[in-house]
Amino acid sequence: MRVSFLDLKRQYNMISSEIDVRLNEVLSSCNFILGPNVSLIEKQIAKLCGASYAVACANGTDALVMALEALGIGAGDEVITTSFTFFATAEAIARVGARPIFVDIKESDYNMNENLIEEKITDKTKAIMPVHIFGAPCNMSKINEIAKKYNLKVIEDACQAIGAAHKSEPVGSLSDIACFSFFPTKNLGCYGDGGMMVTDDYEIYEKLKMMRFHGQRIKYENEMMGYNSRLDEMQAAILNVKIAYLDMWNKRRIAIAKRYMTEIKNKDILMPLYREEDSVVFHLFSVKSDNRENLIKLLNEKGIETGIYYRIPLHLQRAFEGLGYSYGDLPVTETLCDKIFSLPIYPEMTEDEVSYVIETLNANM
Ligand SMILES: *Cc1c(COP(=O)(O)O)cnc(C)c1O
Repeated sequence: MRVSFLDLKRQYNMISSEIDVRLNEVLSSCNFILGPNVSLIEKQIAKLCGASYAVACANGTDALVMALEALGIGAGDEVITTSFTFFATAEAIARVGARPIFVDIKESDYNMNENLIEEKITDKTKAIMPVHIFGAPCNMSKINEIAKKYNLKVIEDACQAIGAAHKSEPVGSLSDIACFSFFPTKNLGCYGDGGMMVTDDYEIYEKLKMMRFHGQRIKYENEMMGYNSRLDEMQAAILNVKIAYLDMWNKRRIAIAKRYMTEIKNKDILMPLYREEDSVVFHLFSVKSDNRENLIKLLNEKGIETGIYYRIPLHLQRAFEGLGYSYGDLPVTETLCDKIFSLPIYPEMTEDEVSYVIETLNANM
């Protein structure tokens, strides 16, 4: 049997008739920029997050950049974040001229260790940017408590975690601004690039709307320097179809993850450990092993694709050489990068495919 790491075609084949109708509507309307589909997906995402406002933009990276800028973060400021994430998290911080300060993570759920944040706070610290890695919420109660104590802003990088919840509160409602990505492989993906910023603050909302559109509030009246960073109507139309399925798809991811966690008995594999009170949406299913390269090779020989997220932590990336970090600075992160790998997980995986992954691992201990 062949099990691919991700198969986007299966999902498209399931919903293609709906998608094609909605795309044709956009095409015949010729209303391509900031039309009804964008307004609708903004309303739907705000509702999903239990937040007041959402502003769509071109991608998750832009969402992070504009969120930082809207909160007044720039040159000379420090933003505390994690090194165990996709490059864009810290890239956005550097892009606005601020300095990413990396804290180590927890072995249990690979998220930033909230107990190490306070020791990193200086008089330059302006914000904390937690990342809900692989769809698992950070300990936002604790992070927000620290932010309040030191008067810091919080920006959630929720790009991998749409639909997840911390103590029954959806991610996206747990910070000053939350950022989402609709990159095709994300739990809610469009058919190109897309992003969203979510907030409860009306002034920030107004600012974000201007920022994505050259600083315009009223047509051709520019109040500030902005960006050209909009979600287009075609992508919004796709998202308006797909968002109706998100809960079902996330539940299916959770069911697959449960099977992996209870049925994989291979002693070479260490499972992640998540807080019971949180709802994790398993953007990826990542495990640890001292024997990673052999297991990956074995799975590959049996037709099962795997992935490694992430092999190099951000503090050791060449692009961040200038920050002055070296190997040994973040031991939990560094060890994890040597041991972690991901098994296939996507809603359209069949039970047989999940069983095959489990059996293959259990038969080769
Ligand atoms: C995908 C992702 C981003 C960036 O999103 P794009 O839409 O690709 O720009 C940022 N942070 C994390 C954690 C991501 O997974």
